[in-house]
Amino acid sequence: ARGHISITGVTKYFGRHKALDEVSLELEPGSVTVILGPSGSGKSTLLRAINHLERVDEGFIQIDGDYIGYQRRGDRLYELKEKAILRQRTEVGYVFQNFNLFPHLTVLENIIEAPIVHKKLTRPQAIERALELLDTVGLRHKADAWPRQLSGGQQQRVAIARALALNPRVILFDEPTSALDPELVGEVLDVIRSLAQSGVTLVVVTHEIGFAREVADQIVFMVDGKIVEQGNARQVISAP
Ligand code: ADP
Ligand code: ADP
Repeated sequence: ARGHISITGVTKYFGRHKALDEVSLELEPGSVTVILGPSGSGKSTLLRAINHLERVDEGFIQIDGDYIGYQRRGDRLYELKEKAILRQRTEVGYVFQNFNLFPHLTVLENIIEAPIVHKKLTRPQAIERALELLDTVGLRHKADAWPRQLSGGQQQRVAIARALALNPRVILFDEPTSALDPELVGEVLDVIRSLAQSGVTLVVVTHEIGFAREVADQIVFMVDGKIVEQGNARQVISAP
């Protein structure tokens, strides 16, 4: 099974501020981990570290035994070159709070861009895959629309389809519903819920406690850069 993430003793400083403080965490292949915690507790920094958008100061992160940002030779770790980091990043999908679709590209073009640029698929293959993914998120009829013509919930569903286009081992969601009007939250959570059955490892930062209770295999609660609670929904969230 692919998508096992192992986080070992990760510490990250911004100046003197410790944004992550010796975080260790195991994520099983195909599992759903929800990260909860107050603003500023290090949730985004942890996601960014998993995708090597932040370098960590201590500790390391592995996906299926591969070190994020490093290569092992003998008993030493060497930093990967930028190109190898970009290749490694294709194994990890990232869905942001604010959708981050390319505004000058249609829905379809947003989805096919990465697999073509990374030479993972030919253009016809990428289009076929994109249309399948648009089916999955219920938006095939919007393939030729522009992002600005879609609702926030639709844009976020396209962003999820785009994250899936490289067939990643892991998808990271950073508050995927927090920029949405309340009535649009459900449609995005439904898509994430169905992904939970698909075998890809999911890590979701969210304030949607009901969603966490229902979907998470593991819930992690962070405060001040530390994991202060960890367990299944029943252990971490008290009943409503
Ligand atoms: P959360 O996602 O839980 O809201 P973050 O991971 O965004 O928390 O931030 C953790 C802490 O690190 C916060 O105190 C934040 O201000 C700080 N921080 C995050 N990114 C930077 C940065 N690029 N430079 C300086 N401080 C940062
Ligand atoms: P989030 O909580 O979703 O991470 P933030 O508003 O905390 O959103 O952060 C948005 C961006 O600003 C991130 O790229 C983060 O690294 C950066 N950032 C956050 N806090 C600081 C800070 N104190 N100084 C500099 N950059 C920061």
